[in-house]
Amino acid sequence: MGVNIEKVFGEDVFDDAVMKVRLPKSDYEKVKSLMYQGGEITEELADVVAQAMKEWALEKGATHFTHVFQPYVISVGAEKHDSFSSTVTDGKIENTFTGKDLLMGEPDASSFPSGGLRATCSARGYTAWDITSPVYIKEGTLCIPTAFCSYTGESLDTKTPLLKAMHAVSKQGVRLMRLFGDEKTQRIFSYVGPEQEYFLVDEDKYMKRPDLIYTGRTLFGAMPPKGQEMDDQYFGSIAPNVKAFMEDLNVKLWKLGITAKTQHREVAPGQHEIAPIFSVSNVALDNNLLVMDILKKTARKHGFVCLLHEKPFDGINGSGKHNNWSLTTDDGINLFKPGKEPENNKLFQLVLACTMAAVDRHAVLLRLAASNTGNDHRLGANEAPPAIISMYLGDQVGDIVDQIIKNGKATSSLSSGTLDFGIKKLPVLEKDPTDRNRTSPFAFTGNRFEFRMVASSNSIGDTNTVLNTMMAEAFSNACDALEGAEDFNKAVEEYTAKLMREHERIVFNGNGYSEEWPVEAEKRGLPNCKSIVDAIPALVDDTTVEMYEKFNVLSKAELEAREDILFEQYAGVRNIEALTMIEMANKMIIPAAVKYTKKLADTVIAVKEAGADASVQADMLSEVSGKLAEMKTAVKALEEVTAKAADAECIKCKAEEYKDDVMAAMAELRKPADELELIMPKELWPMPTYGDLVFEL
Ligand code: ADP
Ligand code: MG
Repeated sequence: MGVNIEKVFGEDVFDDAVMKVRLPKSDYEKVKSLMYQGGEITEELADVVAQAMKEWALEKGATHFTHVFQPYVISVGAEKHDSFSSTVTDGKIENTFTGKDLLMGEPDASSFPSGGLRATCSARGYTAWDITSPVYIKEGTLCIPTAFCSYTGESLDTKTPLLKAMHAVSKQGVRLMRLFGDEKTQRIFSYVGPEQEYFLVDEDKYMKRPDLIYTGRTLFGAMPPKGQEMDDQYFGSIAPNVKAFMEDLNVKLWKLGITAKTQHREVAPGQHEIAPIFSVSNVALDNNLLVMDILKKTARKHGFVCLLHEKPFDGINGSGKHNNWSLTTDDGINLFKPGKEPENNKLFQLVLACTMAAVDRHAVLLRLAASNTGNDHRLGANEAPPAIISMYLGDQVGDIVDQIIKNGKATSSLSSGTLDFGIKKLPVLEKDPTDRNRTSPFAFTGNRFEFRMVASSNSIGDTNTVLNTMMAEAFSNACDALEGAEDFNKAVEEYTAKLMREHERIVFNGNGYSEEWPVEAEKRGLPNCKSIVDAIPALVDDTTVEMYEKFNVLSKAELEAREDILFEQYAGVRNIEALTMIEMANKMIIPAAVKYTKKLADTVIAVKEAGADASVQADMLSEVSGKLAEMKTAVKALEEVTAKAADAECIKCKAEEYKDDVMAAMAELRKPADELELIMPKELWPMPTYGDLVFEL
């Protein structure tokens, strides 16, 4: 398409370059210092910045501004737009945007889930400018990334805890660096590169599927003759209409300063992935929300609908979000980098031991942070990491850990070696020190961990809040144990070995998809929560509350509220699914099957009248009638259990009833419907099939 990325990149972002030109030098420097060192912004300075932003935005044709925030659980950014124009003097309207408008907003928060933190009558919620995430213009509106909290100061979003967690890990990380004699480091940054998977389906077909419209996933649908078994879609060449969509998408993202870097077809038909270059966690969170928003909007422009659901199609791979995460000092030391001599890199070894301890201690919390209702269909299924949390370290680092566990220290390391194709014209390549393990939920990939479990439609806020807080805790424990040690080298070695020995069970380098693994994991005592519902209580157990309160990330009251919200959310999603199934069965599938039985009955009579044998037609009629009867019974049963679950006494029991009884009744209804789909004529089937949806883009 010939777009010059250098020209368009960041065009719609109020970024450093824009600030430098538009702010007085001293104010520019103050803003930069606030961004990097923190501190309170004065209203005077905010006024200056707001004025510059307004002028810039108006020049770019913006008419409105909004504080963008991210209510807990709702995985899209919320926006309430205000126009710049406010004061009318002598019939003229003036554009205003003050420092106060920039710093704080007060959207009516009563309709967002708060888990009882706030009664509806006291609905005030506040948004506060997150100065570390850039302001941008989207569709004529100046968007200000913010954090969102209640009148009484509790966080109501996924951003605020993340910012606090980033602060905590930075503080404890700096402490750790000091132990190793580093006096320079002032901050530790946590970085994230989220790979986003999604499906595209044809918009016209989508509009004929109430299940996709209401729930984001198909609730009925038989497998087509061909699925993904041939592995012929992965990295396949991209269809021209999809390519056009991707090009459009990339330009939109580049303009917003998002480094859309990698794009390719995924394993399932109709499935794709987009990955940006990693950035600081809170910016990555904001950007990922934007990516999801723009994916959806751009798809529509191209006649597609983008499905972000974790499992839109049963029997076909679902979508995840791979959260590539690392911790790096402000002068660029990546704490997860083993370096050339990992056997001598004590800092790396200690950080690794801390990570093992943290992942082991907070396994269920991590699993929960990667979960939502949709991900229940994916985790533990054949294409995604199991619901058991374990760590993959690869050969080189795995060997270092083995040596330390056995001998108290490591003395050598496996070299990665070179890769020789054996053909003179091909280069001899230096290999990565780790191979990949796609079956591990938490895989070391050379200089970062790739947490592969995350739900595709979820915000990455929670995930990174857990990751960074658990590391803050582990670093803090390490510092408590090692500060003041007489012989530091010896103490570090001993502490590292102790942690690795205590948490050895969390390391698993084998095949996570194998049948043996859950059995082995159980022997090791590793938790295996099959459903998010089983993992939710981890939010309020002592280990979690202690950690979050210690580092001021979330209070017990906030955690209890979040627990309620998650149960409600689960029940709510399943309720919509059940009702959608009932409606589709009653209004689409059953009437279509009734029509078909009439056709068959007419045929039987006609064939008989013609004096021929109508037994085949009669058999078909009774088969269809039989399935119809099964459907009727199943619809009734589903109606009953759904009504019962909706009435359950406590919120936890409600979620459990939906998980067990309602889900079972849904499966019962789906079975005869999918069987009917396979035996009914195509022109009578009332909706596009899996084959139509995923193979015909
Ligand atoms: P893969 O081959 O694993 O699918 P991709 O290129 O699709 O890799 O995505 C890898 C992601 O990891 C990218 O977003 C990339 O920017 C990110 N990444 C690379 N290095 C780091 C790092 N040190 N910390 C965090 N993320 C990183
Ligand atoms: Mg990838």
